[in-house]
Amino acid sequence: MRIDALTIFPEYLEPLGTAILGRAQTKGLLEVGVHDLRNWTRDVHRSVDDTPFGGGPGMVMLPGVWWAGLSEVLGLPTSPQDSSETTPSDDVGRRPLLVVPTPAGRPFTQQLAEEFATRSHLVFACGRYEGIDQRVFDAAAEHVDVVEVSLGDYVLIGGEVAVLAISEAVVRLIPGVLGNQRSHEEDSFSDGLLEGPSYTRPEVWEGIAVPEVLKSGNHARIDRWRRDQSLLRTAERRPELLADVELDKADFAVLRS
Ligand code: SAM
Repeated sequence: MRIDALTIFPEYLEPLGTAILGRAQTKGLLEVGVHDLRNWTRDVHRSVDDTPFGGGPGMVMLPGVWWAGLSEVLGLPTSPQDSSETTPSDDVGRRPLLVVPTPAGRPFTQQLAEEFATRSHLVFACGRYEGIDQRVFDAAAEHVDVVEVSLGDYVLIGGEVAVLAISEAVVRLIPGVLGNQRSHEEDSFSDGLLEGPSYTRPEVWEGIAVPEVLKSGNHARIDRWRRDQSLLRTAERRPELLADVELDKADFAVLRS
């Protein structure tokens, strides 16, 4: 997979080269390009924003600068009006995906992370101020797949933190990135539920013992106990998730208890 990100704060994205994401690059599983949007400015002040049409507070990022940057990174025509130069691949995985972090976007979920992980090229556009002129994405959608995504119902200062969060969620799903493939298969959301509690040594810490069943060596009992904990935690913290999970008799019994 290749990830490109355009931002006015490239240094903010240095963690993309650290820890597991860094190792994924060393292993040849990931390529990362971080681009300073100001490289595509044309004026002496290297401006990237202007006041909003219709009035109101804050500034909006300029469409021309964004198109210049995105068209280069995505290989699009230099003018959005020119549709002759791009022929999208029939294979969705090979088509680049332009990801636009915005609080007004579709909620980013594990399911979306799994979809993104099937792509070979993600390009992120990091907004600042009041965001980016909408015409950039409306025009880009004529040439590439575009998705506006939100990290959650709160407002960040810029899109960079969203790039880091989304990249981590996606890259860890690429086969070979995590040492143990099972770790993400058993994580929260992979079966639609929150994961239950985890314990390690010592068996008794500060007078608190780990649950007996986990030391029993009986894998069927341990699996059942983990499923029960997972169900109970989900019912308590995120009951709305249960609506999309296939539950059997034993599951219902636990939830009723
Ligand atoms: N005016 C925008 C609104 O009310 O929807 C908020 C702009 S915010 C201050 C600046 C940038 O931060 C956005 O363009 C986006 O890149 C990023 N951002 C803020 N909150 C976000 C969220 N919840 N999810 C994803 N990106 C977010």
